[in-house]
Formats: sequence, structure tokens, C-alpha cells
Amino acid sequence: MFDLLESRLIVEYEIRTISDLHIGGHESSVPGDVDMAVIRDSGGYPIVPGSSLKGVLRSEMERLLNGLGKRVCTPDDLCPKGEECTVCHLFGGKELAASIRVRDAVAGSKGTLVRDGVRIDRKKRMAVPGAYYTIEVVPKGTVFRGVITIEDPKIDEFVWAKLGALLGTIRFINATARSLGGGVSRGFGEVLIVPIRIREITAKNYLEGKYDGDELSLLESDVSDGALGKGELPMTDVDRFIKDWKGCVEALDDAGE
Ligand SMILES: [Zn+2]
Repeated sequence: MFDLLESRLIVEYEIRTISDLHIGGHESSVPGDVDMAVIRDSGGYPIVPGSSLKGVLRSEMERLLNGLGKRVCTPDDLCPKGEECTVCHLFGGKELAASIRVRDAVAGSKGTLVRDGVRIDRKKRMAVPGAYYTIEVVPKGTVFRGVITIEDPKIDEFVWAKLGALLGTIRFINATARSLGGGVSRGFGEVLIVPIRIREITAKNYLEGKYDGDELSLLESDVSDGALGKGELPMTDVDRFIKDWKGCVEALDDAGE
């Protein structure tokens, strides 16, 4: 499993929809059905696939590091072995296993709405003839819940570097892009990502039968979407974790020069 000194972090999170959200699977071919349906789990609840959120987290972390002028790679051109950036450490590099796992987030209710749409020819800037379609959306105000795990959160001597990277990226997303899924140009998919509870489970915890581990951080009770939208993460100790990531990014940059 893992070494005695390593640990696993469990980050419980919510995705709160600020506008209607469409994350689709395949288009329906059943007559009378909605043309573009949302993805649901086996129980019929709409989901945000973990792979979708993971993709957004990775690309936004790249964007943030790029904006700060820090060394960072892309999935098509990963860092060379031994010179991995913090994105590689979290999402996996050439010869480095990914340490983050993002599970599907499941909506708290099954309710959806159907919206009408028109396919637009982008070159001609007009509707494609016969291009009316229906699109299923999860209404704004819906809350999805999911779990992200991080194996062994440290990079070199920076104990919380990977957790700090995740939280720093979430803070950046909430303050800037804030979007998920399809139809963003027509106002769909504005979301806030909200970490709710972070636990650390060490090998020692397992040996002692303490399977819930120790609580590292918990969301303060009365949190407004306004505060989250400004990128605030009202949890205890968040800055300490993000500082560790920043320190690690600086150290890796210095080492690379
Ligand atoms: Zn890299």
C-alpha cells in the first residue's frame, strides 16, 4: 500500500451551479427524447465526471503557473525525467505516477430542465437550416458532491505541496474561469468549486483502526457564494497549504535554472 511516513488526503468537495449546467454524454437517437442529455449515474442522478473536473483542474493549474511566469509543461510535452514541475507531480509525468484521483461528483437531486437551442454556422454567423435542438441542463442552484484523493501530498521537503496546488488552483478557478461543461458561450456552466472537508489518513491510522484519519481542514459554516466567487476558501489552514506549494514552485524553478 504505502510507506509508513506517507499519507493519503481525502478532499470532500461540492460543485455549486451558479447558472444552468450541461455536461453531456452521447447524443440521443431515441425519437421524442431530448437531443443532448446530461450524464447520469446508475441511480439516475446527474453527475460531473471526475475526468471532466480533473481536466479543468490540470489546464487551469497550467494557466495559473504560466501567468506567474513559472516553468510548467503540457500533456503533449511533459517535463523530462527528474525535472518535473508541480503539475507533473500531481497529475503524472513521463515516469511519475499521478497522485490525484478525482471521483465523479453526484447531484443532490434528479431534477433537470430542457432548453431549446439553435446550431449556429460560425463562418456565416447565422442559424444552420433545420438546426433546432433540445438540450438538457441541470438547473442553477444544484449542488454536486464528490471526493478527490491525493496520495502522499509532499514534494521534496514541502509537506503539503500537492494539497496546496489543488487548493490554489481551485481558488484561481473560482476567481477567474469558473466554467464547466458545454454551452459556456450562452451562459451555461458557471460553477463554484467548494472544498468542504479535508482529512489525512496515515498508515498509522490504518493500523490503529482509525479509518477516518485526522481532520486537517473544514469549511466554515456560513459561506456566501460572493466570498467564494472572489476566490476565498474559508477553511482553516488553507494559506499554510498553498504557501507550501508556492515555496515548492520557487524551489523547482531555481533548481531548473
Ligand atoms: Zn511538468
